[in-house]
Amino acid sequence: MAKVLCVLYDDPIDGYPTSYARDDLPRVDHYPGGQTTPTPQGTDFTPGHLLGSVSGGLGLRQFLESRGHTLVVTSDKDQDGSVFDRELPDADVVISQPFWPAYLTADRIARAKNLKLAITAGIGSDHVDLDAAIARGVTVAEVTYSNSISVAEHVVMMTLSLVRNYLPSHQWVLDGGWNIADCVARSYDLEGMHVGTVAAGRIGTAVLRRLAPFDVKLHYTDNHRLPESVEQELGLTFHPSAADMVPYCDVVTINAPLHPQTEGLFDEKLIGAMKRGAYLINTARAKICDRDAVDHALRSGQLAGYAGDVWYPQPAGPDHPWRTMPHHGMTPHISGSTLSAQARYAAGTREILESWFAGAPIRDEYLIVDKGALAGTGAHSYSTATPAAR
Ligand code: NDP
Repeated sequence: MAKVLCVLYDDPIDGYPTSYARDDLPRVDHYPGGQTTPTPQGTDFTPGHLLGSVSGGLGLRQFLESRGHTLVVTSDKDQDGSVFDRELPDADVVISQPFWPAYLTADRIARAKNLKLAITAGIGSDHVDLDAAIARGVTVAEVTYSNSISVAEHVVMMTLSLVRNYLPSHQWVLDGGWNIADCVARSYDLEGMHVGTVAAGRIGTAVLRRLAPFDVKLHYTDNHRLPESVEQELGLTFHPSAADMVPYCDVVTINAPLHPQTEGLFDEKLIGAMKRGAYLINTARAKICDRDAVDHALRSGQLAGYAGDVWYPQPAGPDHPWRTMPHHGMTPHISGSTLSAQARYAAGTREILESWFAGAPIRDEYLIVDKGALAGTGAHSYSTATPAAR
């Protein structure tokens, strides 16, 4: 029997919900491109309910305990002597979420003697030291595509919100004002702007598709070029690198995984190469941007706005400079954890566990690391510090 250690974010401060704003979710069977949404043999939760917090437990408790497994769910992951650290040494499976990451460092993997499987309930497994997982033979899997469209919608929202100066204008309403000039002195139309994405994977491509109707000029850079038919359909301009692309763009959105190639990519130099007054949207991972370079660029006017939902570390401390820098539209890490996305990543987590317990292969698209090497989606999108592991 296995011990499953699951780290989730806290319940709402006013308690686990007893009712919801809406009664149901639209039914989504397939993602763009044809991949099916998760297909577990069963689920024990109501889609649309809060599953990603501790009391929601990803809807896994009945499934695991009725089969004799042990499930420990906690949000306590960072302090010395945290529940996570105490429970880790004999855990067989760790489940964590990018929104509230249980950082599986090399040191923790060394202490987790029984660990065989690390599941990301969502997308983005950079909170797991992939080199250490490879060396130890730990399988790493995530629920690929489960929240990609959720994030793409968030990127579109944040793009419009920054360019139109929405948040400060809303604040004038809350403050009882009618300050039209204050609101519009930083407000523009998106129409005609050049928008570029760093990475055109599932999220990046979905962002491009959603922004195309705004009559913008679209650019992208990626390790692999999109099919010519897609480039033509959306009128895309390909650039071989982010450095080549950003001087053309009024808005840049980052949609690449965090790995050695992308860590620190948006430093003082690259941000300095952007157009003065450009907007930068980062819902990928905070460490792709240099924290202080972003702060300085907003203060100097090099950037007109920065928005996103990813921070380092998470949760961000109360004095993190991105809380107080000017012209930002940050949220906590929420874009991929809508109730809609939760239903998919909870079902996907269960699907991965069902496969694992049955000794059946985990879907290739869910795999990041397997059998001591990058695998599946991981082999396509990630790099390691030791390229031989690729
Ligand atoms: P995909 O794997 O579909 O796409 C990632 C893309 O990034 C791939 O096309 C890959 O290229 C490309 N890429 C990798 N490295 C580089 C690089 N150095 N330069 C340019 N492109 C690069 O993943 P998703 O689109 O679903 O997700 C992307 C990331 O978004 C996740 O890894 C995660 O970090 C983040 N995310 C954030 C969420 C949130 O809640 N804020 C939720 C979900 C994801 P190729 O494959 O062609 O080599």
